[in-house]
Amino acid sequence: SLGRAQAHAMEPAITRDGVSIAVLANVGFCQDTENAMRNGAEGVGLYRLEQAYLGRLEPPSAEALLADMRQTLAAAKGYSVVVRLLDVGADKPLPFIEFASESNPALGCRGVRILKEYLELLKTQLRAILALSQEYDVRLLIPMVTLAEDVMVVKKHLLALCGELNITTPPQLGAMIETPAAALSARQFAGDVDFLSFGTNDLTQYAFAADRENAAVEPYFNDADAVIFRLMQLTHDDVPEMPLSLCGELAGRPEQVARVLQCGIRTLSVAGPLIPAVKEAIRHSNCLVSAVTKPQRS
Ligand code: PEP
Ligand code: MG
Repeated sequence: SLGRAQAHAMEPAITRDGVSIAVLANVGFCQDTENAMRNGAEGVGLYRLEQAYLGRLEPPSAEALLADMRQTLAAAKGYSVVVRLLDVGADKPLPFIEFASESNPALGCRGVRILKEYLELLKTQLRAILALSQEYDVRLLIPMVTLAEDVMVVKKHLLALCGELNITTPPQLGAMIETPAAALSARQFAGDVDFLSFGTNDLTQYAFAADRENAAVEPYFNDADAVIFRLMQLTHDDVPEMPLSLCGELAGRPEQVARVLQCGIRTLSVAGPLIPAVKEAIRHSNCLVSAVTKPQRS
């Protein structure tokens, strides 16, 4: 029950078969982080940096960005935090970037594709994140990875800045798996990252060719479809040693938690208020599909 879940919100989430699952928070504003920590978050699994950019008329300096990040993450001090690089495009415009008008923005220049074009924008974020990594256990996440080159470009600039700033241990680097191409080619960039995080909102949009915002195609948008689990399972099979997280909305559906864990995912990141129910679902799940516990179907 919800009361029971709430009563145990601050306790760890361990499956029936004894596996500890990290339950982290998706945040954008400091209130999200505060709310999530009160609900038993074990850190931040997705900090959407867009929030720090959207209200501005000019791009923030690394110092201004650092100040924003400190404020947003204050309640999670001492915990690990995953900061995702800016994920914007023609559908989420910024006043200081001249976006080409695209007839198909979801398939155009967005996420890391923009950052590869606007290197100053990328480097400012990397500088701010590296400064933050002196105060927090920071991991860095790249949005909308499709090609191995998307990861390599970010990594190259990250390592160059580490050298410049005399930082000997760079933060862990992760790739968002949000396109079928990325899910099916993880081996191509596995050597360059420390973890992968499935973004099932976009993964579903791209797998089913169904705009996530368009109600008219909603019947085609099912993030709990067997197709999505199959893509995640294939990724896990291809890179079995790679730590896998899930930060799309699928992670926040208690009835799907067992299937998610059975694909090898060991970290879930969800909106703060969902954390107690997700932890409770984990406690009732098994990671291993054994003969006695048949896989759930939906
Ligand atoms: C996703 O696509 O599932 C995701 C977590 O990223 P966003 O919702 O910010 O696109
Ligand atoms: Mg996404």
